[in-house]
Formats: sequence, C-alpha cells, structure tokens
Amino acid sequence: MGNRLVWICEICGQSIQGSEGMLALDQNKMMAQRDVRHLGNAGTTETLRWHVRHDRCDKPPVPNPYTICCSQLPSLDTIPEWRRQLDSKLWATWTDWDEVVAQAVAAGERR
Ligand SMILES: [Zn+2]
Repeated sequence: MGNRLVWICEICGQSIQGSEGMLALDQNKMMAQRDVRHLGNAGTTETLRWHVRHDRCDKPPVPNPYTICCSQLPSLDTIPEWRRQLDSKLWATWTDWDEVVAQAVAAGERR
C-alpha cells in the first residue's frame, strides 16, 4: 500500500476521505499567466498553486476553479493518467502539481 495517496486539506490540516474534497486551480490566475507568458503582457511569471481542500473548507472558495475530485486520485497508479491529461493543457507545467502529489505520497507513507 506504499502508493496510497493521502490528500491533506490546506485549511484544516485533516485528511480528505473519498469525495469529500478536491484539488482546485484558480483559472483567473491561470489566464493571467497565459497573458504574461504568451501575449507578452506586463507581469511576472509565477508557479500556480493547486489548492487541496475539503469541499466544506473551501471558504472563501478558490475563484473560477478547475477542480479534480480527490476520489479520482486515490493512489499513485492514477497519477500518470492525470499527468497526461494535464500536460495536454497549456498551463499544466506552470503549476506545483508534482509538489502536491509528492506531499500526498509522503502523507500516505506516514499512515
Ligand atoms: Zn478541511
């Protein structure tokens, strides 16, 4: 069971069971980054953060979120498939995806 992922809510610090929570990306920030990186608009490039939260803890909610339900990411085996889907989107590589997955792996190994 070394590849079980445990998602930890960034708000309350508790683990997320099944479909109680999500990974959410602020698409407003994503579009701003697209403008900076591809249209040459003024601004700085930054790494976009995936917010890991219980649905009930999402207050204030992540604006204009792109979400993935935690129930869809129960184990490391499910990551390559999502990685492929995300890589097909321009903005996937602008995020801290690998970092949040690494945190879920570490949390899974502790439990
Ligand atoms: Zn929470």
